Amino acid sequence: MQTYEFDTLILGGGPAGFSAGLYASRGGVSTALIDISMLGGQPSNYLELENYPGFAKIGGFDLMEKFEQHADMFGLQKFPMQEIEIIDLVSQPKVIKTKTDEFHAKTVIIATGAKPMKLCIPGEEEFIGRGVSYCAVCDGAFYKDKVIAVVGGGNSAVEEAVYLTKFASKVYIIHRRDELRADKIIQQRAFANDKIEIIWDSCVTEIKGDKTVNSIILKNAKNGESSSISVDGIFPYIGICPNIDKFSGQIAQDSKGFILTDETMKTSIDGVYAVGDVRNTPLRQVITAASDGAIGAVHSVKYIETLKEVKV
Ligand code: NAP
Repeated sequence: MQTYEFDTLILGGGPAGFSAGLYASRGGVSTALIDISMLGGQPSNYLELENYPGFAKIGGFDLMEKFEQHADMFGLQKFPMQEIEIIDLVSQPKVIKTKTDEFHAKTVIIATGAKPMKLCIPGEEEFIGRGVSYCAVCDGAFYKDKVIAVVGGGNSAVEEAVYLTKFASKVYIIHRRDELRADKIIQQRAFANDKIEIIWDSCVTEIKGDKTVNSIILKNAKNGESSSISVDGIFPYIGICPNIDKFSGQIAQDSKGFILTDETMKTSIDGVYAVGDVRNTPLRQVITAASDGAIGAVHSVKYIETLKEVKV
């Protein structure tokens, strides 16, 4: 096990983490970024973004590569594939032990993002990878000429349903209400797509299959009636929950677990900042994650300056 010392340690290599890495490194403090897996975060799995200013259309992976290269220019040190085992955010320096290394840092910027919420219904866990998927870009190509159900009515569900029509012969969007939550421009693309059928006011109550998924059971929210439809795959897109397993209990969170911050991205602990999807924020976009990262990093650098003043 090797021990590293940095001024700032960033947890998470998505847009918020890279932006924080760029601003902190450029701010003149030694900065490292660790991630549980490969770098790039959630946008790496987005086929295309069309609302990141300056790029009319850009692949999610390509944009994250640009973020990473830009942070590299200012000397950000990167440690992918680091699974956190122990974390002490209150001590000074703060201590993060991973399976292989130990990191000490004056400030920590939490940019661990969020993960898909599960339906928590019978058959879901059993058929993961055999008809249940949370990533259309990763798995869509397996469903050529097949029938797919996408669950949810938000931007993710509707965008991914439209994307899946590139492969599938039919895509059902199953939504629990009679109105979609997705942005109007995204809704219009779904309404105009012949391969998409929306099943309103319905919840999926069970996923059935043999070796792979072959049907789902629906319950109508208005009349309580149950029905079954044949599908080859199901993609739940019912929202996200924060990746906070390792620091739950150490830090103030909202009722859904998202980390609470002030306008400087400071959390309830001195020297600890939270940026991007992991924090309680009204908008979860690449642009807002990048903005959070910049704000958090600038204030983290200022905090490090105050530590130096105390020593003198
Ligand atoms: P979301 O906006 O929270 O939408 C979740 C959807 O799932 C809602 O329609 C919700 O229904 C439904 N739902 C929640 N729990 C459910 C359950 N147990 N069973 C069935 N349906 C359930 O989540 P998201 O679409 O994953 O998006 C997350 C964030 O990323 C949002 O801020 C979104 O705007 C952003 N995003 C933006 C873009 C873009 O701008 N291009 C793309 C993707 C995501 P109700 O509507 O009834 O609550």
